[in-house]
Amino acid sequence: MNSIYRTQYCGTLTKKHIGEKVVLSGWVSKIRDKGFLLWIDLRDREGIVQLVFDGKHTPQGLLERARNLQREFVIQIEGTVVEREAKNPKISTGDIEIVVTAMTILNESKTPPFTIEENTDGGEELRMQYRYLDIRRVPIKENLLFRHKLTMEVRKFLSDVGFIEVETPYLIKSTPEGAEDFIVPSRVDKGMFYALPQSPQTFKQLLMVGGMDKYFQIVKCFRDEDFRADRQPEFTQIDCEMSFVNQEEVLSQFEALLKHLLKTLKGIEIVDAIPRISYADAMDNYGSDKPDIRFDMQLKDITDIAQGRGFNLFDTQEYVGGIVIPNGAEYSRKQIDELIDWVKRPQVGAKGMIWVKFTGKGVTSSINKYFEPFEEKDFSIWREKTGAKDGDLVLILVGPKEQTQTQLGVLRMEMGRRLVLRNPEEFAPLWVVDFPLFSKDEETNHFHAMHHPFTAPKEEDMSLLKSAPEKVKASAYDLVLNGHEIGGGSIRIHRKKLQQEVFKLLGFTPEEAQSQFGFLMDAFQYGAPPHGGIALGLDRLVALLCGKESIRDFIAFPKNNSGRDTMIKAPSFVEESQIKKRGLVITEINDEAEE
Ligand code: ASP
Repeated sequence: MNSIYRTQYCGTLTKKHIGEKVVLSGWVSKIRDKGFLLWIDLRDREGIVQLVFDGKHTPQGLLERARNLQREFVIQIEGTVVEREAKNPKISTGDIEIVVTAMTILNESKTPPFTIEENTDGGEELRMQYRYLDIRRVPIKENLLFRHKLTMEVRKFLSDVGFIEVETPYLIKSTPEGAEDFIVPSRVDKGMFYALPQSPQTFKQLLMVGGMDKYFQIVKCFRDEDFRADRQPEFTQIDCEMSFVNQEEVLSQFEALLKHLLKTLKGIEIVDAIPRISYADAMDNYGSDKPDIRFDMQLKDITDIAQGRGFNLFDTQEYVGGIVIPNGAEYSRKQIDELIDWVKRPQVGAKGMIWVKFTGKGVTSSINKYFEPFEEKDFSIWREKTGAKDGDLVLILVGPKEQTQTQLGVLRMEMGRRLVLRNPEEFAPLWVVDFPLFSKDEETNHFHAMHHPFTAPKEEDMSLLKSAPEKVKASAYDLVLNGHEIGGGSIRIHRKKLQQEVFKLLGFTPEEAQSQFGFLMDAFQYGAPPHGGIALGLDRLVALLCGKESIRDFIAFPKNNSGRDTMIKAPSFVEESQIKKRGLVITEINDEAEE
């Protein structure tokens, strides 16, 4: 290492350097003062090494100067690597220490607002406010390092199989694509706005029209959505598009990428093909379009056996379904009541829950409490249909089909968590395919694109487009990992006529379609090739591969739950002149916003 500041990184020193003279620079992590002897843990990006200042080898006065150091001071030292008497097997440099012969203080530091340690005493808000100090902590540093390794592997892999990284613009035209756009006022063209891309979707399609054949980009996307826990207004995608491919080819290419990442970064080899499930089966069996298949506990539809016995609650609803909790018959009344309260929370939204216990000595249930429509022999059919065993508990929800399945799906995930069935070290990827092209808003009767408006209908459903649009399936697919959607994509429409037809079904007038997406449809008239692609959520993928569910600690400078950056204080008010120059007038401000 050719630097005046250091001969190597602190964290890279080992026994083989014993006897060498070294120059190191870093932060004072810890000081232990024994009077005649003083130890310092010196930290840099690669780790920690122990420095010793002793009365014997350390020059006169140096021990005293070292005694005045404080945590997070930046120092440069010269010294000799020696073998440690008391070794520390917990750190990679634990066999050695550095006897210091010279020291320069490069910068002082105020006392940090929280300890720069693995288990810090700093709360989330404080850590975000001083994120640069937080990044010095090992867990955050490791996360960023892992993210770097992953992006490098992605770039290498995709480049090796012929993808070209192309940048697309961030200042674009606002188009309705699902979420709300972030918009940027133009100074030159007053009254006009750019939008920040929700994704480079139309540009990557235009690159295919441009003959780029295989494109990728590790790219920021912006969505001005209401903030939910763990959602970031700006996030990163591994965005890809390919020409002259069908769905099968896209799936196989990105299956190979995921397997490559699991192998190189986690040492996990998945030999079998990633399983596939249709959207309909995912909803029926897991109550989710992103099932966590690390555990079973599938939804059981018991509508047909529950109905027709005079039990009004069942007879009047579209769907009766349940999940089986292994050994749940042991649950006390109190535990079950707590679960009932849990499903009634607004986040789940069930009105109540019915339970049936198969105790081995018979059946107890919440149905037969007031009323006995079901006999022992009925319950034995229930038992057969649900696969419950002696000792199991069946939890049952009723209501409109999709809504109830979704509620059961949420309950299933919660039970999976409570019963520790979701092992973060296990990786269970899954393709979800055969999505409907449209979803229908029951209130307005409007169709929405389930993926996005550029998604192609399945070839075999093309004839249904006019007669029964709700039945048309899309050539769309999601890649799911451990209950999270880590990517989604589709084969695209590449002919103007079909694109116009889909826009029409989505409620666009021909003029609206032309004004919003004319550039794309015009391009389709100049020999657009068949094409399709996918985008993977990089932040989520990195977090999941590290066994974590929260993406925030895998982003160097994330926004908080209200979409704010509390360190740089964004968003912020701007100078009146900046507003004027853009021809804008502010009519309302957020009273709660603090600068
Ligand atoms: N642009 C899409 C998205 O961001 C992904 C794709 O269809 O490739 O979800």
